[in-house]
Amino acid sequence: MKPRLHAPKRTLLIDGIGRLFERGRVEQDVRMLIRDGRVAWRGRADESAPTVDDEVVEHLDCGGRAVLPGLVDCHTHLVFGGDRADEFGERSTGVSYERIAARGGGIRSTVRATRQASETELVTLARARLDRMLARGVTCVEVKSGYGLDLDTELKMLRVVAELQRTHPVELVPTLLAAHTVPPEYEGRTESYVEHVVETIIPAVAEAGLARFCDVFCERNVFDVAQARRVLMAGIDAGLRPKVHAEQLHRIGGTQLGVELGAVSVDHLEAISAEDIGHLAGSETVAVLLPGATLFLGMSQWAPARALLDAGVTVALSTDCNPGSSMCDNLPLMTTLGCARLGMSPAEALTAITWGKAAALGLQSTRGHLGVGAAGDCLVLDATDEAQLPYRFGEVRSWAVVCSGDVVVGPGCPSL
Ligand SMILES: [Zn+2]
Repeated sequence: MKPRLHAPKRTLLIDGIGRLFERGRVEQDVRMLIRDGRVAWRGRADESAPTVDDEVVEHLDCGGRAVLPGLVDCHTHLVFGGDRADEFGERSTGVSYERIAARGGGIRSTVRATRQASETELVTLARARLDRMLARGVTCVEVKSGYGLDLDTELKMLRVVAELQRTHPVELVPTLLAAHTVPPEYEGRTESYVEHVVETIIPAVAEAGLARFCDVFCERNVFDVAQARRVLMAGIDAGLRPKVHAEQLHRIGGTQLGVELGAVSVDHLEAISAEDIGHLAGSETVAVLLPGATLFLGMSQWAPARALLDAGVTVALSTDCNPGSSMCDNLPLMTTLGCARLGMSPAEALTAITWGKAAALGLQSTRGHLGVGAAGDCLVLDATDEAQLPYRFGEVRSWAVVCSGDVVVGPGCPSL
C-alpha cells in the first residue's frame, strides 16, 4: 500500500454507517477506525472505538448513509495523448474502422499523439481523469501502457504512471501492454514486432520495475494465440503476471491461453463460448467485463455475465477507459450496464467494481472489503441504500470519499 501523502498521520473514526456493503453482503450500523492508512478496528454503532492516548482522531459522521469499499477500476488505458471524437462521429454514421484506419485514424492516431506528447503533458491529462475517478469513489486503478509500441514511449507511459502514483492519492497498478497492436514501422511484420517486445521491451520494463502485469491483445489480425503465448511467457520469465485481452471480437482462444498460463484475468469476453466458461470456472482467473466498450462500439453481443456468475467465475466490471473504444472514466456507470445489459443483480454489479476488481489485480487481501487490515479507502454515498448507485445511471452522488484514512472528497474538502 502507498504511504499517505499528507503528514501528519491522523486517525479517522468513521461513524454513522447505515449500511456497509462488501462482497455481496450488508452489515448495518457500523463504525470503524482507520489508522496509518488501514482499517484498524471495526465494530457496531454502540461499541467504543479503541483509540490510543494522545491520538488525534478525526471524525466523519456518515449520518446513516451507505458505504462501500473504495472502488477498483482494474482495466484502463488512462495515459494517452489526443482525442478521437472525429472518429466516433464517423463511426456513428457508418464509416468503417478500416476506412478510418486507412487515413491514419484509429489507434495509430493515439500512438502518434502519445509519442509526441511530453511526459508532463501526459501526467496532466491523466491526472484530470484520475481526479474525476476519485470523485466517484474509485481509489485504485490499473493503468496499461500500449500507445507507445516502442521502447522509449512504453517506458515514458509507465513513468507517467509512476509519477502519478507518487503524487496522487489513488493507488495505481501499472501493466505493460506493448503487444497492444503492431506499430506502423512493423506493418506486415508482426513476428518481428513480437520478437522486439519479447527480447527488448519486456526485459527493459521489468528491469526498471515499472510494471506489475504483462498484457496482450489476443485477437484475429492482431496477435494470435501463439504470439500471445510468447509475449505472456516472456512476461512471466521477467516476473510480470499475465493478463489477456481475449475474445472481444472473435473467439480465437485467448481465454483458454490465459487460464493455462494462470493469468490473473481475461478481459472483454464478448465472444466467449460455453467451453471457455467451463475452463474459467475451474480456475482462479477473473473474468473482467467491459460493457462500456461494447456500448461505445455499438456491438450487439454483450459478455455473458449471467452464465459466468452461474458457473462460479469471479466477475469484475471495468471502464476500459480509452480514447478509441470506451471514452469513459465513470466506473459506477458500468454497474448500470451490468444490470441492464449483462443480467447482473445490483449486488453482483457492486461486488464486481469492488471485490472482483481486487481479485483481478491480486489485491483481495487489502481491497474490495473493509475488514481489519484492509486499505482505509471507502465511498460514502449520498444515499441510504447502495442500490442507488446502479439505479441512478451515469450520476454518482459521493457524499465523501476516504483514501488511506484521509477524507479526500466531501464535507470540508476543497472540491477536486
Ligand atoms: Zn483494454
